[in-house]
Amino acid sequence: RLVLGIETSCDDTGAAVLDETGHILGESLHSQTEVHLRSGGIIPPVAQQLHREHIERVVHEALERGNVDPCQLSAVAATVKPGMALSLGIGLEFSRKFVRQHNKPFIPIHHMEAHALTVRMLQPVPFPFLVLLVSGGHSLLAVARGVDDFLVLGHSLDVAPGDALDKVARRLSLVKHPQCSTLSGGQAIELLAKDGDRTSIALTTPMGKINDCCFSFTGLRNQVTMIIKKKEEEEGVEEGALLSCVNDIAAATQHTVATHLAKRTHRAILFCKANNLLTSSNPTLVVSGGVASNQYIRKALTVITEREGVSLLCPPAKFCTDNGVMIAWNGVERMREEKGILPPNVDVCYEPKAPLGVDMTAEVRAAG
Ligand code: ATP
Ligand code: FE
Repeated sequence: RLVLGIETSCDDTGAAVLDETGHILGESLHSQTEVHLRSGGIIPPVAQQLHREHIERVVHEALERGNVDPCQLSAVAATVKPGMALSLGIGLEFSRKFVRQHNKPFIPIHHMEAHALTVRMLQPVPFPFLVLLVSGGHSLLAVARGVDDFLVLGHSLDVAPGDALDKVARRLSLVKHPQCSTLSGGQAIELLAKDGDRTSIALTTPMGKINDCCFSFTGLRNQVTMIIKKKEEEEGVEEGALLSCVNDIAAATQHTVATHLAKRTHRAILFCKANNLLTSSNPTLVVSGGVASNQYIRKALTVITEREGVSLLCPPAKFCTDNGVMIAWNGVERMREEKGILPPNVDVCYEPKAPLGVDMTAEVRAAG
């Protein structure tokens, strides 16, 4: 049985065909990152137009590369939530036409569920496991108990860590930096941080006094922005033209993001242990999302997981970011369990905002 997966929730047009074992027959991805880097951020109508221009080619490329004819598919899975309305709309419109035309079942996919479960395509990770999803649009800690059964222990109260890193990178004009012109904000910060001294810039870790598993990154971003402004004034340079301590700022920012994520994750592990939410034989933390490809952040998480006797799994970077493969895999998981499979002609709407399962943040806070 073959599943076609289609992803258009943000700024990547992705498609892939998988078989039931998770073998990738064909895939294709069109990334809009370069366009959005040049314009200084994602402009939704621009993202929509680019999805519109590329979706047909991307889907056909994935099918062709796998030597798969649409009639061989068992189902089509597409992201319908959460994400940018204009982007989700293109993927959904295309998928609905496609399933009607080829008379195939449709599997609507929750983008964050797909991120959380991708790891199971690569290795057998039994439920339940703890998952930390950190990307440009999300940050959350959840217990994955089943294909469509999640307990949310914490989420961001404002922006996601990737968004904060992107804004700091933009404020430093890193796109003009010779080593960083093609890198995302987070990648640029990771690269520059390697030659920086994090201790020379004082930053406060967010939410130090609040005992829960939620995140906040706006305050950190503001702290860094104020430091950049001060340094620019001291050096007498224009906005975004700072030279001397860019590496130090990158290192301190990355360290503070890593510390915040590690502390919240540590608390989540303790909460799970106290409430028997993970398998006691092999408790596992899965980390995914674009920010999870950061080696410094991974190291900070390793310190915590080793201390607590938890296995840490990070899918390779390629599977941490948005793509059609993870959507197809979620389709495979749902097909196996016969969950959420719809007939070709059913009316489905996209949902820009959609929670991932049961909200447990209040219980976590109450537990301290
Ligand atoms: P979402 O998946 O939440 O809809 P998204 O499409 O922005 O959002 P991803 O493609 O998973 O998410 O990740 C992109 C984000 O990850 C960007 O904010 C980028 O700066 C960040 N990122 C990518 N590589 C790194 C890295 N090495 N270190 C830190 N951040 C990174
Ligand atoms: Fe994503």
